[in-house]
Amino acid sequence: MLHGLMMNQPLLISGILRFAERAHPTREVVSRRAEDGALHRYTYRDLAARARKVAKALIALGIKPGDRVATIAWNGYRHLELYYAVSGIGAVLHTINPRLHPTQIAWIMNHAQDTALFVDTTFAKLLAGVAPHVASLKHGVVLCGRAHMPAETPDALSYEELVDAQEDDAFEWPEFDENIASCLCYTSGTTGNPRGVLYSHRSTVLHAYAALMPDVMGLRAVDSVLPVVPMFHVNAWGVPYSALIAGAKLVFPGPALDGKSVFELMQSEGVTFSAGVPTVWLGLLQHVEQNNLRFSTLKRCVIGGSAAPVALQQRFEREFGVEILHAWGMTEMSPLGTLNQPIAAQASESEDEKYQRKAKQGRGVFGVHMRIVDEAGKELPWDGQAFGALQVRGPWIASGYFRSESGAFTADGWFDTGDVATIDANGFMKITDRNKDVIKSGGEWIGSIDLEDAIMKHPAVAMAAAIAIAHEKWGERPLLVLVKKPGQELSRDEALAFYEGKVAKWWIPSDVVFVDALPLGATGKVLKTELRAKFAGHRWPEGV
Ligand code: ADP
Repeated sequence: MLHGLMMNQPLLISGILRFAERAHPTREVVSRRAEDGALHRYTYRDLAARARKVAKALIALGIKPGDRVATIAWNGYRHLELYYAVSGIGAVLHTINPRLHPTQIAWIMNHAQDTALFVDTTFAKLLAGVAPHVASLKHGVVLCGRAHMPAETPDALSYEELVDAQEDDAFEWPEFDENIASCLCYTSGTTGNPRGVLYSHRSTVLHAYAALMPDVMGLRAVDSVLPVVPMFHVNAWGVPYSALIAGAKLVFPGPALDGKSVFELMQSEGVTFSAGVPTVWLGLLQHVEQNNLRFSTLKRCVIGGSAAPVALQQRFEREFGVEILHAWGMTEMSPLGTLNQPIAAQASESEDEKYQRKAKQGRGVFGVHMRIVDEAGKELPWDGQAFGALQVRGPWIASGYFRSESGAFTADGWFDTGDVATIDANGFMKITDRNKDVIKSGGEWIGSIDLEDAIMKHPAVAMAAAIAIAHEKWGERPLLVLVKKPGQELSRDEALAFYEGKVAKWWIPSDVVFVDALPLGATGKVLKTELRAKFAGHRWPEGV
């Protein structure tokens, strides 16, 4: 074979920043600050200069290539500087979800052997609480100036003082192997201990490229992007990298994630594109609907992390003209796996067909290979009917966990996602369930996501979860857990009758319980494990 004669330039995260500074120097980054609620704005040119200073400050602190540097922070410009500075010097950025329990945070930090922790003022108490339990931790830094340094952390350093201590921003980003680790994210570990996914520069840059394809997120220079998805949740789905390549404006909401604040920021900053898990949109839509407001610039939203109910998609698209892009992925996949954009053959689909399609998680992004297999590991056909374990492989998919064994990686080089799915002849993948959430009635599977999606179309339903509860005759039967919209009435029988003709008769849940709220995990997803435990002893009505 003959070697190509192209330059062998490593794909490094610092290259993204260098490009943005050159190509889009005046594009803005706008952030709601944690310490004073003020709106901070600067440009990519400023970001690049500050990131160089931060890099020098990190080195001055003694942080070395390979060291893990943790953050517990909202979406904001200082967090963005750390994204580039930490990875840029060859250290590893470890983003931590503040919604985890402090003992779990300490566990993760000990597992990662973090040497420094950077927190927003909001999380000063958390820093003070976990620091004594993490032996490897040498530095605690609060992301603010001296004036805002919290009383709880007398030993912590001020981020702004560290930056100011650098006389200038003269710094050359080092070149190294693109396979060097760049970031570390732990899965939320709804079962068992959290597991670390260790991204590389190469995987991060390739993922950022892929996200920019027109049928993926398709960000453009003219876009203004507000990632609602946190920078501590799988790197905000890569948006902090992709936006810089595209030259899009970045708008960070900081801690102000209520519907009113997000809406006002979207309006004032001309936001055209946003991304987040389904639950975050409920508050936003409620605010917009109750106050009779309109989005004047918002055009597209990516919804993923859990199934985007068709009813939610329709509200956005029909009432507000905002296009919803249903996406699927996971921490182990950086996270993008599939995105739902139509193909040419679907140009004339009816409204019904369109939303049947949009209930699916979409087509695999180039770079992500998918297959579904049965229990014996045999590959199943792409016919939209056969369902099995969804396995993936590709350059931005984990090949193993950080310092932890797992049976999720197959001998022939695939990663088992733990999701159960169908794939149709057009390549559209549909998750029927998470492996551990499957409902097995009389030996047959019932798709909990389909059950939830169907009832979400009822005007009185705010949130829904279908869970498996033990049943004497059938093994398991679906129990429907519902949250009603404020001021709405709905009975058990009305809810069950709503399923008539929409799903197979034997799929219709065997009972309904109403609750005030569903338990949500650290990434805003419904905690079905908790629901199953809560309703484990549920008594089925007479005759069920
Ligand atoms: P965790 O929820 O464990 O923190 P992730 O955020 O990586 O981890 O979640 C990945 C999982 O979320 C997927 O395996 C899948 O079960 C679920 N998920 C993500 N997107 C979707 C979607 N669009 N529809 C249904 N499930 C989804």
